[in-house]
Amino acid sequence: MRSSKPHATSRYLAGDGGSTPAVHRGAGLADEVYEAIFARLMALKIPPGARITVDNLVRELDVSQTPIREALGRLEGEGLVVKTHLVGYSAAPQITRARFEELYDLRLLLEPEMAGRAASSITEPALQALTAAAGVNLRGGGKDERARYPQFARQDAIFHDMILEIGGNGLVRETLAHQHTHFHIFRLMFHALVTEEALDEHEALLAAFAARDVDAARHAMRAHLERSRDRLSPAFDQ
Ligand SMILES: [Zn+2]
Repeated sequence: MRSSKPHATSRYLAGDGGSTPAVHRGAGLADEVYEAIFARLMALKIPPGARITVDNLVRELDVSQTPIREALGRLEGEGLVVKTHLVGYSAAPQITRARFEELYDLRLLLEPEMAGRAASSITEPALQALTAAAGVNLRGGGKDERARYPQFARQDAIFHDMILEIGGNGLVRETLAHQHTHFHIFRLMFHALVTEEALDEHEALLAAFAARDVDAARHAMRAHLERSRDRLSPAFDQ
């Protein structure tokens, strides 16, 4: 799959003169199939480690093999699907508790500092883009919680990545992007509370960015990550 490289360049911030990523030309269907499989993975309808058979998906989604293979390739690039020689595709295994602790350690070392830097340098257009990406629009609105959850997982990944981009250290950003943190942690728990609380914390971050308050941004990011870790860690006790 050509399009599965980690997103080291900006896909969100303005001003690239219309060179929108030429991901899929026949767009519609390919994207729909991708979203359908993504949602099944995030909602644990395809549990971690489970085999994924192309033929089953062909039947379930009533499409040909081509968009399914393409979607699985994309998901492989995002760390949600693993392709094994002679076996085929399966959902990525659940992360271990040790790995989970390491991921949050890494994030806590890097993201508060980057949030502080972003607060000191953020431009008005970047602030607007970040506000749009914070997922706050996914709040309530009578929409089905379960339907919103996969959406929020993606939104959260974009929001945090965008802060790292504004923070301005490409290596930090790539390092965290390679962990596919968000998709892994969101599969730990399928819970509406995760979304609502995280949105409050995103709003606190946005307020700090809007005030260009470096200390408040650092503090808000640290608090958000610690609470996020505390919300999700009970998943390992079940
Ligand atoms: Zn978040």
